[in-house]
Amino acid sequence: MKWKNIAYTSWGATTETEVQAGRPERVRDVINYVEQSAKLETHLLAIGACKSYGDACLNEDANVLLMERMNRILDFDPRSGEITCEPGVTFNELFELFLDKNWMPPVTPGTGYATIGGAVTNDVHGKNHDRDGSFGDHIKWIELVNSKGEIMRVSARKHNDLFRATIAGLGLTGVITAVNFQMKEAPTNAVLVRYKRMNNIKDYIDRLIKARGQYEFSVGWIDMTAKGKNLGRGILEEANFADTNIEYKRLEPKKIPKIIPGFAINRLTTKIFNNRYYHRIPEKGLDKFVPLQKFLYPLDNWKNWNRLYGKKGFYQMQCVLPDKTAELSITRILGACHTAKISSPLAVIKTMGSEGAGRLSFPMKGVTLALDFPNTSRTLNVIRNIHEIVATHGGRIYLAKDNVLDTATFRKMYPNYRDFMNTKDSYDIINLFSSSLSRRIEL
Ligand SMILES: Cc1cc2nc3c(=O)[nH]c(=O)nc-3n(C[C@H](O)[C@H](O)[C@H](O)COP(=O)(O)OP(=O)(O)OC[C@H]3O[C@@H](n4cnc5c(N)ncnc54)[C@H](O)[C@@H]3O)c2cc1C
Repeated sequence: MKWKNIAYTSWGATTETEVQAGRPERVRDVINYVEQSAKLETHLLAIGACKSYGDACLNEDANVLLMERMNRILDFDPRSGEITCEPGVTFNELFELFLDKNWMPPVTPGTGYATIGGAVTNDVHGKNHDRDGSFGDHIKWIELVNSKGEIMRVSARKHNDLFRATIAGLGLTGVITAVNFQMKEAPTNAVLVRYKRMNNIKDYIDRLIKARGQYEFSVGWIDMTAKGKNLGRGILEEANFADTNIEYKRLEPKKIPKIIPGFAINRLTTKIFNNRYYHRIPEKGLDKFVPLQKFLYPLDNWKNWNRLYGKKGFYQMQCVLPDKTAELSITRILGACHTAKISSPLAVIKTMGSEGAGRLSFPMKGVTLALDFPNTSRTLNVIRNIHEIVATHGGRIYLAKDNVLDTATFRKMYPNYRDFMNTKDSYDIINLFSSSLSRRIEL
């Protein structure tokens, strides 16, 4: 099998990584690549669309398998909605193939470009976590190639330990070659969205918790530049399926040039943008029919929007906090950003319903907050400060978005890490599967 030297970044684009890459097209190729890497004693990691923001999909100075060509639908039952597909299938492809048959992925992240392999190994969540949990909750079985080059089928009944280590397992248990999961019924291709202004963080969290599970989907945006009595104000979107289909054709996303001269996301541009964005919704609120994919993937209109942050890239921090500490801790997080004079143009808040099925699943019952930060000299300090606040208040950081967390804080936030490591050690004795993230947090 051929390896090619490539350099790539994750979505945050803070670090360029050089690797030897293989591009399997079938399971036999995966086995060959695994056997070669084991022989060469080189770490290996399968990767999807690299929509992880941090280093979960990086494997500095080692080998990676680009899984994009393994993107076949292997089986689909139109009556039950049960599907089996290869890991390189994207969420966009599932929508294109199945939405007109009234099926959609059970859970989807905020980008349609992510792959099913990435969704399994980060146990991704969407705007319906309260009702539907995370991706792992809908998986019946997973097929993977282990470090001995053997194909294993794992499920809640068979090799349950490996099944639960593979969901949210960050690609560290093997190369996934097929996934069987249950799709969700989508009665129409659109949602009726109710947009509401939230005046401050207390109102926001009260509303999110009170309305938990009442709507099919919900998500909120926070104006990070607002202070004082408006701290944490924003726009909440609550949505249910529309009664009828609407006309919709997904357009090719517009491209953002590599470097936009003279443009930068900074506190001033963020303040101007946020003020407009907040006031576009009238005080009494607004109801609007929106195509489902547009609602679920608002940022996908722009390909490579990460370039807006310039050459140095950006960090995203996403945390989840238990209901009872959410208001206090999020107030402290917003305060820490104001003190450091750092602003996030994209601040997203959602509720979560329950723990995920994976040993290292991110979700827990509570409130989740995601903040994007341009990569400046102050950013890392602010993020570390936030990690401390989150750890103190019983929360955790999402590893799919992280490249800053230290080992001790990770272990505090993910107490099941030991079970995960025991399982990994017993199935991957030679520690073949590894990533920049796993080496950073000693996983
Ligand atoms: C705009 C945007 C919005 C997002 N919104 C959300 C959100 O709402 N909720 C959420 O949960 N996440 C969200 N994310 C994060 C994203 O969904 C996850 O990082 C997802 O895992 C990315 O999938 P990917 O295919 O790009 O995988 P990659 O980033 O390439 O890889 C992710 C992990 O999957 C592993 N992997 C991939 N394929 C395989 C395979 N075949 N076998 C074994 N391991 C494999 C990799 O090793 C890596 O550890 C968002 C990302 C973006 C850019």
